[in-house]
Amino acid sequence: MQKRRYAEDAMRTVFQSFGYQEIQTPTFETLELFTAKSGEGIIDELYSFTDKGGRELALRPELTAPVMRFYVEKLQMEAKPLKLFYFGNCFRYDRPQKGRYREFWQAGCELVGTDTPESYAELISLAYAVLRKTGLKDITINIGNLTILSSIFTKLNLSKDQQQDLIPLIDKAQFDDVEKMLQQFGVPQEDTKKFLDILQTTDIKKLSSFVQHDAQAQQEIDLLTTTINLLPLFNVKNYCLKMSIVRGLDYYKGIVFEIDAPNLGAEKQLCGGGAYELIPLFGGRETPTAGFAIGFDRTLLALETEKYAFPSSTLTTYVIPVNEAAIEQSFTIVQQLRSKNIATDIDLLRRGIRKALKYASSINAKTAIIVGPQELKQDAVMLRDMKSGKQELVKLSTLPKKFQ
Ligand code: AMP
Repeated sequence: MQKRRYAEDAMRTVFQSFGYQEIQTPTFETLELFTAKSGEGIIDELYSFTDKGGRELALRPELTAPVMRFYVEKLQMEAKPLKLFYFGNCFRYDRPQKGRYREFWQAGCELVGTDTPESYAELISLAYAVLRKTGLKDITINIGNLTILSSIFTKLNLSKDQQQDLIPLIDKAQFDDVEKMLQQFGVPQEDTKKFLDILQTTDIKKLSSFVQHDAQAQQEIDLLTTTINLLPLFNVKNYCLKMSIVRGLDYYKGIVFEIDAPNLGAEKQLCGGGAYELIPLFGGRETPTAGFAIGFDRTLLALETEKYAFPSSTLTTYVIPVNEAAIEQSFTIVQQLRSKNIATDIDLLRRGIRKALKYASSINAKTAIIVGPQELKQDAVMLRDMKSGKQELVKLSTLPKKFQ
């Protein structure tokens, strides 16, 4: 938990430094909230149940839908843009494996009421900064655009069903299978080749040629170009164009992005996000929305894989009463230090100085306070630096100052 709290605190600090406010929603919601967002197929992936009142409920599999429900119910009148972040547990009926659990944690955010390129650049840079602040080094950002991808699907005359069949293959980068399927669908050889090029290109200029007559797609290319060009301003490195990002094509639209930790292997995706549309579906007034979710457990796995030196727990001082007569005075000292938020522990086993010092060093105490009759006669105690072993006589009245 100490490692987890360290990473959580680091993440929270960054969200707040970007002007985001924390939001918390209930662990369970109506099942309908998630089927409305993702279709009936999602039920297989959920922990859902009927409560004693006959209501169909589900443990949340993610937090975007709950946050948007909350927004529609309570926050629509708030000044825009509204910046909300969350940290919460999620539940999915997944097949558990390394980096994939049935209960896991997500840290994420939603940005409501803006769709300028600088908003998207700031959002991507926030996800990057949140992960970097934990101490992670090796991460890569991939950026795509679903409006452009949809436009290409339309140009290839692919039906919704055909698109649904193709998407998992694109997602898994199985481009040979994509090619075979496009042939089966009767897509001309030349178009298939161009499409495969686009899915794999990292050059944004190549996109235009394929969506020349689609004004909306052209607009999205301009938006994507401006957004990407802004990233260096935020000190974001390691980003790449990746048009094969598909995510949830039903509600995501426009810019999408993913952040990976390549050294995690199969379950390497740490973060997914982008622009999406859910508010009208939940009965709210249309306004642009975007966000991302970071897999918290995977972030910790990635840090461990990088052998990150997590800060170890430290205790500021450990108080050792030398004999029974010193116990009362020792507790007075402990009370005084704790009231000043100085992390203080005390020997509760009456085990003698040598053993108590050994214990103090095993729990990483920075100092020890030895409370003995000789020193108390002078209204003082012995303060020992646990690392150097140096000791000094300190007056009780000045003791707290030694730790501030
Ligand atoms: P998603 O909401 O599916 O876009 O997931 C966002 C992030 O949550 C992913 O990139 C993963 O890092 C993490 N994640 C998703 N599902 C799981 C799971 N079952 N166990 C652990 N982490 C997960």
